[in-house]
Amino acid sequence: PSAHNSFYSIASIPADGIGPEVIAAGIETLQALAQTLQTFELQFHHYDWSSETYRKTGKYIPDGGLDELKKHDAILFGAVGAPDVPDHISLWGLRLAICQPLQQYANVRPTRILRGTESPLRRCETGDLDWVIVRENSEGEYAGQGGRSHRGFPWEIATETAIFSRHGVERIMRFAFETAQKRPRKHLTVVSKSNAQRNGMVLWDEVAVEIAREFPDVQVDKMLVDAMTTRMVLKPKSIDTIVASNLHADILSDLAAALAGSIGIAPTSNLDPTRQHPSMFEPIHGSAFDITGKGVANPVATFWTAAEMLDWLGEKDAARQLMQCVETVCESGTLTPDLGGMATTKDVTAAVVAEIRKLP
Ligand code: ATP
Ligand code: MG
Repeated sequence: PSAHNSFYSIASIPADGIGPEVIAAGIETLQALAQTLQTFELQFHHYDWSSETYRKTGKYIPDGGLDELKKHDAILFGAVGAPDVPDHISLWGLRLAICQPLQQYANVRPTRILRGTESPLRRCETGDLDWVIVRENSEGEYAGQGGRSHRGFPWEIATETAIFSRHGVERIMRFAFETAQKRPRKHLTVVSKSNAQRNGMVLWDEVAVEIAREFPDVQVDKMLVDAMTTRMVLKPKSIDTIVASNLHADILSDLAAALAGSIGIAPTSNLDPTRQHPSMFEPIHGSAFDITGKGVANPVATFWTAAEMLDWLGEKDAARQLMQCVETVCESGTLTPDLGGMATTKDVTAAVVAEIRKLP
């Protein structure tokens, strides 16, 4: 509804802890970008679903909430988790309660060393580490299958069954190959643990071999997840795109974020590659109650998240320009304490907005 090229309706769910602080910074930055470039327009709709809502109503998402979300083009999510709510309740109550019904089966986590930031790895500089981790986001070890019996007895047992369906594995493999194919190096590492887990992980490896035939131009290698952690530390340049199960990729991507400098810069996208439903974009970090309200949360993860969202919506130039502004600000030394600086969330946001205003 405007003279602009494209219009997007975005649901924002800031939720808990530093979530509202970084989402506010993200929205301010996105709106500055939209105003400056005049090539697209964003309208945000805010949903105050959080652990506070859960305390008051016993639910994170009100009745009809998911149908509300489906009306938007994308979802920008902050962080969920509170000290008085068990993590498995908050995670399943909000994040997974959105990802699963909206079929966001591909979780994508780009990792690189931004200009002006440092890796804890010696001799590893901007450009030396440039990865995309594709995480299976709908089943696997986080399928929620299992149970407990003999509660409280010394012989109590609990089972946690990982689910690997051919359908689920095929679709994430195909997505991972497509992701690798779009990158300059066209290289994919398929991670599993098929030596110890002889059912689901063996299916995983077999499907990877089958799907690889559809992508003759993508170079593939295979790694056990334990060996992959050492390769990430010792030979970061040998890696390009990674595909791994829900659990494995969860762990590898925290390691990746740390190797790239800070959890405070890492973005993630929960994608429905079929585009039937809106996809959800969020910083990797959690609610970080230790720094909530102090004004020092690093907003860079949310800026990068915002760029990933624009990219998915088709605003590729805007996404690239946003990241250039963010990296210019990092390079100028305006950094929050997690990156070794003394700037506040507001300082970094103002600096990025000022860079955006300079765009041609
Ligand atoms: P949750 O339970 O929601 O996952 P958490 O507190 O366990 O939250 P994170 O929020 O991921 O875990 O934070 C881990 C550490 O990283 C904390 O010490 C936190 O202060 C720091 N941290 C996380 N996000 C940021 C950020 N955006 N800026 C600065 N520091 C951050
Ligand atoms: Mg955490």
